[in-house]
Amino acid sequence: MTRHVIIGAGQAGLQIAESLRKEGFTGEIVLFGDEASAPYQRPPLSKKYLLGEVTADRLLFRASDHYTRLAVDLRLSTHVKAIDPAARTLALSDGTRLGWDRLALATGARVRRLEVPGAEDSRVHVLRGLEDAESLRLGLEQAARVVVIGGGFIGLEVAAIARKLGREVTVIEAQSRVLPRVVAPLVSAFFHELHSNHGVRILLDQQVATLTRSAEALTVETVDGIRVPADLVVVGIGVLPNTELAEAAGLACEAGILVDEFARTSHPAIVAAGDCTRHCNLLFTAPHRLESVQNAVDQAKVAAATMLDAPVPYAQVPWFWSDQYDVKLQMVGISTGHDSLVVRGVPGPDGFSVFYWSGDRIIAVDSINKPAEHMAARKLIAAGGKCVREQLADPSIDLKTFIQ
Ligand SMILES: Cc1cc2nc3c(=O)[nH]c(=O)nc-3n(C[C@H](O)[C@H](O)[C@H](O)COP(=O)(O)OP(=O)(O)OC[C@H]3O[C@@H](n4cnc5c(N)ncnc54)[C@H](O)[C@@H]3O)c2cc1C
Repeated sequence: MTRHVIIGAGQAGLQIAESLRKEGFTGEIVLFGDEASAPYQRPPLSKKYLLGEVTADRLLFRASDHYTRLAVDLRLSTHVKAIDPAARTLALSDGTRLGWDRLALATGARVRRLEVPGAEDSRVHVLRGLEDAESLRLGLEQAARVVVIGGGFIGLEVAAIARKLGREVTVIEAQSRVLPRVVAPLVSAFFHELHSNHGVRILLDQQVATLTRSAEALTVETVDGIRVPADLVVVGIGVLPNTELAEAAGLACEAGILVDEFARTSHPAIVAAGDCTRHCNLLFTAPHRLESVQNAVDQAKVAAATMLDAPVPYAQVPWFWSDQYDVKLQMVGISTGHDSLVVRGVPGPDGFSVFYWSGDRIIAVDSINKPAEHMAARKLIAAGGKCVREQLADPSIDLKTFIQ
């Protein structure tokens, strides 16, 4: 019987398995995951789960009998150690080998570690998986003073939860604004003010130099000599794609496993999807690596189609969201390379949207507490992003008017 194997039982790996079945594959599917839990949602780990509003069982994508019904052989706590593309086999950490006809890599990403003295202290947390979140949640119960290193999405979401829990919070960001890589300065300013208004102290342009340990506290010291005492530190300084298996197997990698718009790696029988890839999308001019639920799901569908020799190119508009306090940020498109902005609405509690233009078209939109505008923006960008620029800033004109 034909056997398709998926490495990585996260959002993308699960979607590949389900799409293979949905598209009629009747052969064997083996889904390997090195975590103990069945596939679960990561976004609530820095949101409702951390706040204690949802329990771990509510994070699971599917009930355990789902895998039996779908005839997916889910092998948890199993690390795939190596793949041999020529022999079409893989090796598990216990030494056993397994053959495959088609292979999918959905190995995700891991957190980037802070490499300064003292960072290995047990009061220093990261947040990627369920075990990290559980340990952080328990740590937050005891901590009065929390320092968050990194003012990106994970750092700011954790800061918001820690404030909701009544903790004293300081965010230390190395760049000159929060969310520096992903949003325009005025969106950064909005989030800076939001956190400041909630009592978060934000230190910008500060590189962490050391963490000094004592029994009572950790002291986070920046290169400029600012010292901040903490009972708990959370490091949110980005992730690194898990490319080691692919690299060792000789697959082309460059800051991610390189795949084309059909999710094909440089080996014809191996696809890859999700956070581990740097990929092409018919809507992009250059390959990108994205860390989002949308990309994991949509690219996984493309990968499954390729595994079944029914390729369809990846041409989905990327989108993403982040929840902080009572603010929902929704992003669509990729703003890299924009040359101008149009702001619709006034940055403030009533919500607004920022349109990123490149030449005569919109390439990305950030909407703050404007879900209807976000949905309209998705359609607008999918339709080519053309509209009458002068009318865009007028909130009385419905965005749907611009969708051809
Ligand atoms: C705290 C947090 C909050 C987030 N919030 C949002 C959000 O609000 N919106 C949004 O769009 N996205 C969010 N994301 C990102 C989103 O969750 C990821 O983009 C998505 O989970 C990626 O799915 P994936 O399957 O590619 O990778 P992963 O979910 O990382 O899954 C990969 C799996 O493969 C396993 N694995 C790796 N190597 C091996 C191996 N050799 N053998 C066996 N198993 C292996 C890993 O352990 C892991 O379980 C968030 C992520 C985190 C961590």
